[in-house]
Amino acid sequence: MGGHHVSAPAPLVDRFGRVHRDLRISLTDRCSLRCTYCMPAEGVPWLASETVLSTDEIVRLARVAVEQGIAEIRLTGGEPLLRPDVVDVVARLARLQGPAGHPEISLTTNGLRLPGLASGLRDAGLTRVNVSLDTLRRDRFTELTRRDRLHDTLAGLAAAKAVGFAPIKINAVAMRGVNDDEVVDLTRFAIHKGFQMRFIEQMPLDAGHTWERSEMVTGEEILDRLAEHFTLTDRAGRGAAPAQTWWIDGGPASVGVIASVSRPFCGTCDRVRLTADGQLRACLFAREESDLRGLMRSGADDDALALAIRACLGLKQPGHGIDDPSFLQPERPMSAIGG
Ligand code: SAM
Ligand code: SF4
Repeated sequence: MGGHHVSAPAPLVDRFGRVHRDLRISLTDRCSLRCTYCMPAEGVPWLASETVLSTDEIVRLARVAVEQGIAEIRLTGGEPLLRPDVVDVVARLARLQGPAGHPEISLTTNGLRLPGLASGLRDAGLTRVNVSLDTLRRDRFTELTRRDRLHDTLAGLAAAKAVGFAPIKINAVAMRGVNDDEVVDLTRFAIHKGFQMRFIEQMPLDAGHTWERSEMVTGEEILDRLAEHFTLTDRAGRGAAPAQTWWIDGGPASVGVIASVSRPFCGTCDRVRLTADGQLRACLFAREESDLRGLMRSGADDDALALAIRACLGLKQPGHGIDDPSFLQPERPMSAIGG
């Protein structure tokens, strides 16, 4: 085993000087919904169960990463709440200890299982929740996610609020001719309920590889729509956060736009991703993965795992290059990489 560090290790820095503090862990590639921009109706070929990391393995890799300087862990998927022991995973991750203390644990979810899990997750040490919700209309939700479960996502949001998570963010992917006419309605809903609305540009990460830039609703279009109904003032201090945020009518409500494609924020990216089958990716769009599962299962010690994490970051590119003619969509869909 790695032994105790006398002093804090060097920051997790890449070739471009970006310090990495944020680890996204996919807890499963499976999902209870089939959002059109993410999965085909029939789902994707699921990972073989023996390749999916055990909870001990996840906690070990996270411990090594936290000891190396990761300060925030976001659980995602697939649908992370489908993992039967998700509360235990949160509890164990929240107890890890790095140079800057315990990591902050957050979750991105479709919300369906929050009614039953929210209080357990809060008690386990989860602090922040993002719930994905693209529409407030039942027929649209059913069409978009291929499941008639708007009611459950709304119940999940209510449960998250009832147990005191703060802030609670709503993520919506804006799609032309699908839900772009709901930008203002979703924002009003979020203001009314005390949630923070975040609009995301659609990225080329769907399993069907059908993304087209011209079909994408840009962050600028979203802001133009919002500006017709609200007074928006720039909220300073974005830091490494993907969202650029605005106060609505002077605050305290705010709205954010994640313009990953039209205004990439790769220059301040502090994120690294661990797939459910134990592959480390320096970027959503990375073409290489580092096989931490294989290393770990062949007996690597903590120091070797720490070195592998640093080597993976050494391969990180300066940007995602979506706008580059030579851009190639990653082979794995978002649900397998971990959104
Ligand atoms: N199932 C959980 C959920 O939906 O929140 C967590 C995983 S999901 C892949 C994480 C986020 O990625 C969601 O907010 C989803 O809307 C977003 N997402 C999925 N496919 C996307 C795409 N092609 N472009 C942009 N965002 C996408
Ligand atoms: Fe499932 Fe989330 Fe993908 Fe929708 S976006 S299919 S909820 S993983």
